[in-house]
Amino acid sequence: MKSPIAPLLLSDPRAIATADVDCLVIGSGTAGVTTAIELADRGLRVAILEAGPLVLTEHVGSGPFANREDIVPGIHDLVRYRTVWTSGAEAAKAHAGKVETNNNAWSVVGGRTLFWGGFTPRFLDSDFADWPHDADEMRPWYERAEKLIGASGGSATGAAAPFMHHAAQDRLLARLGAKGIPATNAPLGIDTLAVHDGHMSRGFDSSVSRLLRCPHFGRIENGARLSLAAETEVTKLVVDGGLVRRLAVRDRATGRTFDIPARQVVLAGGAVQSTRLALASGLGDGDPLVGRYMGDHLFRQAVFCLPEPIGEKALYIFIPPTAERPFHVQMQGMFPETWYSPLHATVWLNGNASGRFVLFYCFGVSKAEREGRLVLRDDAGAMADYYVVNDRSPGDLAALAAMSTFTTDVAAALGAELVRTEENGPGAALHEYGGLRMGLDPSASVTDPDGRFWRIGNLGCADAAIWPQQGSANSYLTITALALRNAARLAETMATAK
Ligand SMILES: Cc1cc2nc3c(=O)[nH]c(=O)nc-3n(C[C@H](O)[C@H](O)[C@H](O)COP(=O)(O)OP(=O)(O)OC[C@H]3O[C@@H](n4cnc5c(N)ncnc54)[C@H](O)[C@@H]3O)c2cc1C
Repeated sequence: MKSPIAPLLLSDPRAIATADVDCLVIGSGTAGVTTAIELADRGLRVAILEAGPLVLTEHVGSGPFANREDIVPGIHDLVRYRTVWTSGAEAAKAHAGKVETNNNAWSVVGGRTLFWGGFTPRFLDSDFADWPHDADEMRPWYERAEKLIGASGGSATGAAAPFMHHAAQDRLLARLGAKGIPATNAPLGIDTLAVHDGHMSRGFDSSVSRLLRCPHFGRIENGARLSLAAETEVTKLVVDGGLVRRLAVRDRATGRTFDIPARQVVLAGGAVQSTRLALASGLGDGDPLVGRYMGDHLFRQAVFCLPEPIGEKALYIFIPPTAERPFHVQMQGMFPETWYSPLHATVWLNGNASGRFVLFYCFGVSKAEREGRLVLRDDAGAMADYYVVNDRSPGDLAALAAMSTFTTDVAAALGAELVRTEENGPGAALHEYGGLRMGLDPSASVTDPDGRFWRIGNLGCADAAIWPQQGSANSYLTITALALRNAARLAETMATAK
């Protein structure tokens, strides 16, 4: 699938192999692009290797496709593959390839940033309890990340006005508040600054549009400091003497395989793929924690029918988590009737003022357990040749029961009928984390507090694979903030080493 614009933007991976690149970044989602731009801004020469093709140059909801429910699933299908999350009891069947695929993954320039739903809450301060960083350490990086992605409607001082805010929404917020359920406008990764004096709205944040706007970005053949090769899948990190010496890559367009010499490498394939690549490269041989402590949010969804239309076509409400209630709620409307699908996460832009139905999503903290793990299948070679084993702990089951009760409570507070509700399995939230957990103690973690492998001198990870635990907040903003922090630290270290 070759876009005619691709030759203007993309580099030949063989040109990257012969260029003098300071750092290779694997993956072009928010983790990879945030890292690469920060390193390039600090003077380093960076190349991104992305397995997927270039399909869109901005988020699917920022352009003409926003309201095209008939076309958007087809765009997903160009770059989507199916994966397996399973229970411990079914692991042997999954290993034999006898468990049906039940989850989605995406491989494309921009990764999931082309399709994400835009919701950008921060972690609560208490969510960092198991991290090597506390909330004070993360706060400035959250602020930078919010500016970078053009976030709006958050709780930070000076946050841009919420994307979704009107009197009808205020009335629903008041109805919830009156029943003891404090709710707010939604924080979103959507630029709401006025289109004025040279500022064009950037719409939904997407790493691909962020990359294309970056003045350092161009073709490596033309001497650009920041470049990207698409359809270039890294199949193995070749490690020798405690360092990654080369990356084995496959050019998906031609099927040819070759090596790219490595000075410094950052994994940013998303938590699952970064972990899978580490295992496929033999990094689990000397470290039994590689691939462990992998989890995903608890996820319940529902549809409510309000007693009357609110007279506005769109609303977006957030019920934040509390220390006692480790889950949050997102509500979107108004619809004639519909059901959430990851293939149209921006459906709420396409509401209907006479609709009475509201989509309800409840995401809850699931603590990472050692038994939550990624396993390679025997024939592992391709990106889909793995399964994730994840069982709900007693704590998870209690939280899921509380989420179910809360769903009924929120419907009742709004005077709405609960039309349908369902619990989704592990992996369905698409907020996976762990596998390469960071920590202060090398014997209890894979990576250090800056996301660098304890046992491999020139390898780091920028995505949620390094998170030891999660908050209930959706992952995008925290991935971006931590990637910024760790890239700044890496640039400092590399400058000192030069
Ligand atoms: C439909 C949908 C809705 C969502 N809504 C929200 C939301 O509202 N709020 C929120 O916070 N989060 C949301 N998320 C989740 C969020 O998008 C992800 O958590 C986040 O974007 C992950 O970013 P990442 O950079 O870690 O990984 P990804 O975006 O997955 O990017 C990784 C990239 O690396 C590439 N890659 C992997 N392995 C290799 C390899 N070996 N060689 C070369 N390339 C490789 C992949 O092809 C991929 O393109 C949503 C996700 C989806 C799909």
